[in-house]
Amino acid sequence: MNMYAKELLEQLKKEKLLSKENLVYLIDHREEVREEAAKTARTLGDRYYGKSIYPRGLVEFTNYCRNNCYYCGIRAGNRNVKRYRLSKEEILQACENGYEIGYRSFVLQGGEDPYFHIDRMEEIVAAIHERYPECAITLSIGELNREQYQRLFDAGANRYLLRHETADEKHYRMLHPDSMSLAYRKQCLYDLKEIGYAVGTGFMVGSPFQTTEHIAKDLLFIKKLDPQMVGIGPFVPHHDTRFKDEPAGTVELTVFLLSLIRIMKPNVLLPATTALGTIDPEGREKGILAGANVMMPNLSPVMVRKNYELYDNKICTGEEAAESKKTQSERMKAIGYYLDFCRGDYKEDEIEPERSTNGH
Ligand code: SAH
Repeated sequence: MNMYAKELLEQLKKEKLLSKENLVYLIDHREEVREEAAKTARTLGDRYYGKSIYPRGLVEFTNYCRNNCYYCGIRAGNRNVKRYRLSKEEILQACENGYEIGYRSFVLQGGEDPYFHIDRMEEIVAAIHERYPECAITLSIGELNREQYQRLFDAGANRYLLRHETADEKHYRMLHPDSMSLAYRKQCLYDLKEIGYAVGTGFMVGSPFQTTEHIAKDLLFIKKLDPQMVGIGPFVPHHDTRFKDEPAGTVELTVFLLSLIRIMKPNVLLPATTALGTIDPEGREKGILAGANVMMPNLSPVMVRKNYELYDNKICTGEEAAESKKTQSERMKAIGYYLDFCRGDYKEDEIEPERSTNGH
């Protein structure tokens, strides 16, 4: 029995922070505290968000990308991808389909596609905002400059997902070409926050060359940035990348890290990602039971889904949105949760533990 890991978990619960060295120790000795961490994380998630799981309708609107992230299936250098772009009308149609079945939160995600320059994106965001003023609009379209982020915010976008990918400079260099920079990516995140977006960042679990120390640095960066959302999912190899023979991240570590993030930031919005569901058919349920409270079902037209292939064997590429709503709702019900079709906003205020749940 390893007492020290238990003590560290207790300290993390109390202080919501540990030193880098202690995080490394805790992660490396997670075996003994895994269950306790999941239980604590789930209780905290319930305290803020109850039994609600927030669905976000994901529209993957382009797989063209000017970047060449080494791990990503749609990187610029991959000649074998069948490239596609949705038109503005197709994007609006995808939102309309989602809206009709209840979605009030849309995520537009894509590669960094020059075709969707700022004027065009501004117009698309404004059109969605005009049609569905009560809905949340999340963008996940990579690195822009501050003025561009501001324009999209003014057009009606209110959330932005930009994973930092890894908080370690040397590790970042092993995963990205020289044209990209961790410093700039972090700057983007701070700009987005200052502008007023609800910001999501995150990283892949088990990415090539990742060490426990890298993960500890990721957690500390998240703590410092203090984002409203954190997206983590296992790295999954893609057959047309240099990392095709690398092992995927594990469910077990991803789920443990979800718990740690929930404990460090109890009110954070925490997706059980598609990548987690890809490496394990029960992956998303496991993520939720360990503290996650968001899901991002696909609203992209089924025709194009197979082409938005960031990694191999991605799930849900053949299922219509309405159909997947039904299966996902049932799956949530089976574990005691339900899909809550609201905007699913971040709960800003810390809830006093004394005033919640089982108190007498
Ligand atoms: N172009 C946007 C969206 C990126 S795709 C941007 O730069 O932010 C969304 C996320 O998918 C990425 O941030 C990355 O963490 C993840 N991803 C890419 N390739 C992956 C792979 N092989 N396995 C698991 N996740 C991957």
